[in-house]
Amino acid sequence: MDSLGEKKLDSKKGEYKRIVLVVDDEDVNRQMLGAILESDYEVIYAEDGQDAINQIKAHRETLSLVLLDLLMPELDGYEVLKWMKEGKTINRIPVIVLTSEKSAEVKSLQMGAADFLAKPYDLPEVILARVRHSIELSEDANIIKATENDHLTGLYTREFFFQYGKIFDHHHPELAMDAIVLNFNRFHLINELYGRAFGDTVLVAIADGIRGILEESSGIACRYDADTFYLYTIHMSDYDRLLRKILKVLSGVLKAPEMRIRLGIYPDIYRAASLEERFDRALQACNSLRNKYSGSFAVYDMDMHEREVYSARLLEDFEQALEEKQFKVLYQPKYNITGDRPRLCSAEALISWQHPKFGRVRPDAFIPLFEENGLIQKLDRYVWREAAEQMRKWRINHDIIIPISVNVSRVDIYDPEMPEFLDKIVRENEVNPRDYLLEITESAYTDNSRQIVQVVKDLREAGFRVEMDDFGSGYSSLNMLTALPIDALKLDMAFIKDISVDNKEMRMVELVLEIADFLQVPVVAEGVEVQEQYELLKKAGCDIIQGYYFSRPIPPEEFGRLIIKEKKGE
Ligand code: C2E
Ligand code: MG
Ligand code: MG
Repeated sequence: MDSLGEKKLDSKKGEYKRIVLVVDDEDVNRQMLGAILESDYEVIYAEDGQDAINQIKAHRETLSLVLLDLLMPELDGYEVLKWMKEGKTINRIPVIVLTSEKSAEVKSLQMGAADFLAKPYDLPEVILARVRHSIELSEDANIIKATENDHLTGLYTREFFFQYGKIFDHHHPELAMDAIVLNFNRFHLINELYGRAFGDTVLVAIADGIRGILEESSGIACRYDADTFYLYTIHMSDYDRLLRKILKVLSGVLKAPEMRIRLGIYPDIYRAASLEERFDRALQACNSLRNKYSGSFAVYDMDMHEREVYSARLLEDFEQALEEKQFKVLYQPKYNITGDRPRLCSAEALISWQHPKFGRVRPDAFIPLFEENGLIQKLDRYVWREAAEQMRKWRINHDIIIPISVNVSRVDIYDPEMPEFLDKIVRENEVNPRDYLLEITESAYTDNSRQIVQVVKDLREAGFRVEMDDFGSGYSSLNMLTALPIDALKLDMAFIKDISVDNKEMRMVELVLEIADFLQVPVVAEGVEVQEQYELLKKAGCDIIQGYYFSRPIPPEEFGRLIIKEKKGE
C-alpha cells in the first residue's frame, strides 16, 4: 500500500484494542477468558446464543473475533456459527469454538470455525497466541480481498475506504473528522472532447492533489466513481485552502480548472450519523453547487439538514398524494405572435402539488428529488395521461384542438416502454401525436447524447413532436444541434430576464433565433413577463411566447374560459 496518509492513521493502530466477543452461558468461563484477554483486547460478552447474535449485529463492522461456546441452552453455538457463516458481512469474522468434547472439533471446523479451544483451558499464553493468530490470518485475508487500490489513481477503492473508515471511527471517536466529496463537473465532456487518455491524466492529477492534502492533514481517500472522490480527514478549518491546493495541481494539466471542481463538506457536527450518511450529506452539499460554474465548495449546514428532512417527507408522502389526487396538472398557454394579434396556439402541462401540510409545493422542490429516487416516471406518466385526457375534453367541449406539451424527465429517456405508453394514451384519447409535444431539457441531451438522439428519433417516427426545453442552459455545441432531430427550441428563461434594446442579452437571443432559423425550427420564448420583453421578442422574429405576460399556469377549467375567449376572437 502506498503513502496516502494511511501510514499516519496506521501508526495509531498500536493505540487501540481490537474487539473480541466472548460467548459462554457460564459466568465463571466468561470471567476467566475475560481476565486472560482484557490486557490485549477490548472484550465484550454474551450469555447465550441470541445475545451473541445481537452483539455481533451491533458490532458487525468492528468485531475482530468471536470465542463461542458450543453447548448452551436454547440457541446453541452451532446455530450461531451457522447464522454467522450465512451472513455476508459477518462471515469475515473468525470464530474460535470452546468445548470440552473432542468430537465437536471436526464438526465445528467444517462449519467454518477458524480454531478450537478445549476446556479446561490451556495456559493463558496459549490462548492469547491462538486468538492473535486467528485474527491476523483473517485480517490478512480480508485485506487481500479489499485493498485493491483503484488501478488508475492509486487511491483506495470505495469498499476498502468505507471498511477502513469505520474501523478508524471506532477507535477514534474523540477525533473531529470531515467527510468531503469532490466532483468534477461534466467530466464526460473532457473524455468526449479530448479523449480518454487525457481524461485519465486529469483524474490522476486530481488524485495527486488529494495526496498532497492528506500529507498535511491525516486521512484517507478513494475514487468513488469515475469523477467523484471521497476524502475522510481530520477536521480542517480552511476549506478554501483545500480547494486551492487541488486547483493548483490541476492547473498543470487543464485550463481554467476553477470551472471544474466542486467540493461538498460535511464537517464534524453530528458524529452520530453513520459514515455513509455523513458522505451522503457531503454529496448533497456538493450537489447544491450543481449549477454554479466556478470552483467552489459548500458546507452542509442546518438549512440543508432541514431540506433533507423536508425531502424525506415529500418522498414518503408521494404514493398517498398520487392516490388522493393532490397532484394537479396546470396549463400555461403559449401564444403565436407572428401574426397581427397573438393567438393561443398551445399549452404546456405543468405539475403542481397541493400538499395537505405544506400547501403548494413547487415542482423545483420535488422533481429533482423524484428523479433521484425513481418516482418521476410514475408521476410523469400520470401527467402525460391527464394531458391527453384534457385534450380530448377540450375537443369535445369546445370543438377545438389545443396542442399540449408535456415535460419529459431525463430519467424517462432510459425507460424503454415510454414510446409505447405515449402511443397508448394518445390512441385512447384520439389525439393526433403531432399535437402532443414532448419537452426535453437541453442538459439531458448533453448528458447522454447518443441515447437521447436515438430515443428522440423513435418518438418522432411515432409521430410526436419534440421541443428542446431550457435551450441555452446546457452546452450543446452547434455541431450537435445540427445533428439533432427536434421540432422547436424553447429559449431558457434566464435569457429573457434581462433583455433590453441592444444589450448583451438581447444579442444572445438574436443569435439563438438565427440558429433556429438555420435549423428551420420555431423558437418558443418562455418566462416573458412584461410588455417590453414581448415587444423586443416580436421585433426580433420570435414565433411563440409563454409567460406571465399572458398568463400563469392555470387549472383546466380556467383554461376552458380562455379557449372560449379566443374563439370569440377577443
Ligand atoms: P419548465 O419546463 O422550463 O417550465 C417553465 C417554468 O417556468 C414553470 O415553472 C412555469 O410556471 C414558469 N414560468 C412560466 N412563465 C413564467 C414567467 O413569466 N416568469 C417566471 N418567473 N416563471 C414562469 P414550474 O411550474 O415551477 O416548473 C418548473 C420546472 O419543473 C419546469 O420547468 C420543468 O422542468 C419541471 N416540471 C414541471 N412539471 C413537470 C412534469 O410534469 N414532469 C417533469 N418531468 N418535470 C416537470
Ligand atoms: Mg417545460
Ligand atoms: Mg423551460
